[in-house]
Amino acid sequence: MKLTNKFNLPQTFINVIERPTYTKGKANISATEMINSPQIVQLKRKHWDDIEQDASEMVWALFGSAVHSVLEHGKGDTHIVEERLHANVDGWNISGAIDLQEIVDGGIIVSDYKTTGAWAVMNEKVDWVSQLNIYAWLVEHNKKIPVKKIQVVAIIRDWSARDAKTRDGYPQSPVTTIDIQLWPFEQREAFIKNRISLHSAANFSMETGESLPTCTAEEMWEKQTTYAVKKEGGVRAKSVHTTQEEAEQALAKGYFIEVRNGERTRCGSYCQVSQFCEQFKKYNETKEQA
Ligand code: SF4
Repeated sequence: MKLTNKFNLPQTFINVIERPTYTKGKANISATEMINSPQIVQLKRKHWDDIEQDASEMVWALFGSAVHSVLEHGKGDTHIVEERLHANVDGWNISGAIDLQEIVDGGIIVSDYKTTGAWAVMNEKVDWVSQLNIYAWLVEHNKKIPVKKIQVVAIIRDWSARDAKTRDGYPQSPVTTIDIQLWPFEQREAFIKNRISLHSAANFSMETGESLPTCTAEEMWEKQTTYAVKKEGGVRAKSVHTTQEEAEQALAKGYFIEVRNGERTRCGSYCQVSQFCEQFKKYNETKEQA
């Protein structure tokens, strides 16, 4: 990766970014890669040396690593911290680094630390459920001890005491433990096998020069175009619809339809490989022609 330093951060930041502590060891794929889009994983591997990222954009990732390091010192007698577990599934060596395993009566509680925003905590992320269930599978597969519970320990970096008092559903503390639904063992295993088959197909496409499997709407964080019915001169919408036809039916005298164009949020602002992505290129060309 080409690291830039547009905001002139102190050299210590640059040094620490250039000395990563993370490694997925001998694994073909880590749990976090497994739940990611196969297209993104392939493009990242192919173009890693050409991806440009500014040090300032990596500060929250650094903050997350710092929290993990500090919490390692909180290890107790019944804790296993930062253990990387491996398994072979359908010829792939998969791995996951588990932040905390607590030995309890008859089993293990698996926790993952997330430094995140309040919004993410209020809108539980599908990726958290998948990631924690992969960890649970790795634990039971390797240790033959039942996993009793899986949870995210969220450290909320933008927590506000005022919002905690005034907003419904807002986390009441800057550190919040969120229970994650634990799937049956067979469901976890089926999920892992399905992800491996998707990544395997993408890997094959990359090696043979075929088109990569495209990202799904969820993977692109796609927002659909909506149609808001608004009063002339008004600010708020009377109603918002998913089709133009529905919006037209809701129209009344003195009202008009405002088209709110959808977007692929991840592609446009958050995807490290967007400059190498044919799918995004075609999408932009279609938009320009529209
Ligand atoms: S730019 Fe969009 S479509 Fe392309 S890899 Fe990234 S998320 Fe997927």
